[in-house]
Amino acid sequence: MTTLAPDVLVIGGGMAGTVAAIAAARAGAATVIVERFGFLGGAATAAAVGQFVGWETAAGRRVVGGIAEEIVARLAAIGGSDGHSHFTMSTGHRMDRVQYDPELLKPVLDALVTEAGARPLFHANLLGAEREGGRIAAVHLLTKAGPWALRPRCVIDASGDLDLLAAAGARFLPLGAGETAQPATAMFRFGPIDLAAFGAIAGAELAALAQQGVAEGRLARAALHASRIAGTRDAWFNISRVAFDATDPIALSDAEIEGRRQALAAASFLRDRVPGCDEGRLVALAPAIGVRESRRIAGRHLLTEDELRAGTAFADRIAWGAYPIDIHPAQGAGLDFVEFGADHAYAIPFASLVPEGLDNVLVAGRGISATHRAHAATRVMPTVMAIGQAAGTAAALALQANAALAATDTARLQARLRDDGAILP
Ligand SMILES: Cc1cc2nc3c(=O)[nH]c(=O)nc-3n(C[C@H](O)[C@H](O)[C@H](O)COP(=O)(O)OP(=O)(O)OC[C@H]3O[C@@H](n4cnc5c(N)ncnc54)[C@H](O)[C@@H]3O)c2cc1C
Repeated sequence: MTTLAPDVLVIGGGMAGTVAAIAAARAGAATVIVERFGFLGGAATAAAVGQFVGWETAAGRRVVGGIAEEIVARLAAIGGSDGHSHFTMSTGHRMDRVQYDPELLKPVLDALVTEAGARPLFHANLLGAEREGGRIAAVHLLTKAGPWALRPRCVIDASGDLDLLAAAGARFLPLGAGETAQPATAMFRFGPIDLAAFGAIAGAELAALAQQGVAEGRLARAALHASRIAGTRDAWFNISRVAFDATDPIALSDAEIEGRRQALAAASFLRDRVPGCDEGRLVALAPAIGVRESRRIAGRHLLTEDELRAGTAFADRIAWGAYPIDIHPAQGAGLDFVEFGADHAYAIPFASLVPEGLDNVLVAGRGISATHRAHAATRVMPTVMAIGQAAGTAAALALQANAALAATDTARLQARLRDDGAILP
């Protein structure tokens, strides 16, 4: 059996894991990033989300920079994005966003990871973990060549579903009374669209059309939300809704089928009823259904809605976010949306990345230690990229200092993140 012994092993090549691997490798750590698909990006590419939202407060103050901003610049340089812009959400919120082409994001991430010196390991699935007390001593993968064992000095679980931590027997946070995990969405690409006609639909008319689609049983969600693809007349539509447990293999398989069924029904509704869409058709389905929420780790700090509302400036803050609480209910067609103040931002503490009882593991991405409601704000991609940059940098710095990850010198980490362009007031 092949055995690798990297300094830092990142499980999962979503936006959080990819940025973590870039940061760790740039900071000098021998880094391997494991991904079950043949490309990086996770929800950004495999689920074709199509837009990064939540870079700034509603008033326009930027809270995320660093490697996330480099990714935008690289995308723009190859025609994969028109950069930063604004739009009004169905909730009336003025939101900043970067629309991007998921296909062009793949080579951008390849380039950044390999230029940093990290080793991607594609088509590799997590098989198990060996735990020795408070450490993960070995990680087993199923690769194209059969099982491989990796003996990393430290691990970042960026698998979204936290499969590594599940294999290591970590504790996860339960949903609270009356809470359900957010539903998933099968994104689909539709076109060609008469963009002038589609863009000219007034907000109230769009909302009425969406309600009509729900009433006709052709839309699962009362929204006609789309992200444009630069240089084309197509858009990725985010209008299906499937509630299930993403860690259950049978439910996951059924959800993929249901998501595609909903996408097809929604595409026919667009063509029949929505101005500008009459010549379009479903052009592509995202390779995988997009999972908003699954496991959340029980960490050394539980980030709460109250802390987000208060903008608590934790001493160990490692990233900032400004995206509102945005909960897609498992049943029904609406949104539970909580805006913060116009110039409000909130901090994410390092302790929310550290699993209880483990010294050489961090979580990066949507699975950090946060309540269901706080997660609904911190889950967006600019924020998970900022968390990823902090996790990767922390891992490299802790190894250089021969310290346990959980004992990271957060003042040193903050200084390094600022030097590397992260926004950390
Ligand atoms: C439908 C939908 C719409 C959204 N809309 C927006 C939006 O408009 N803007 C925005 O900014 N955010 C949006 N989000 C939120 C955002 O996309 C995600 O929260 C974020 O991308 C999560 O990133 P991550 O890296 O933590 O996890 P993921 O993107 O889930 O990445 C996890 C990675 O780990 C890999 N992996 C998982 N398990 C294993 C395993 N066992 N072995 C090997 N590899 C594994 C996966 O293949 C994946 O690449 C949306 C999410 C969804 C699902």
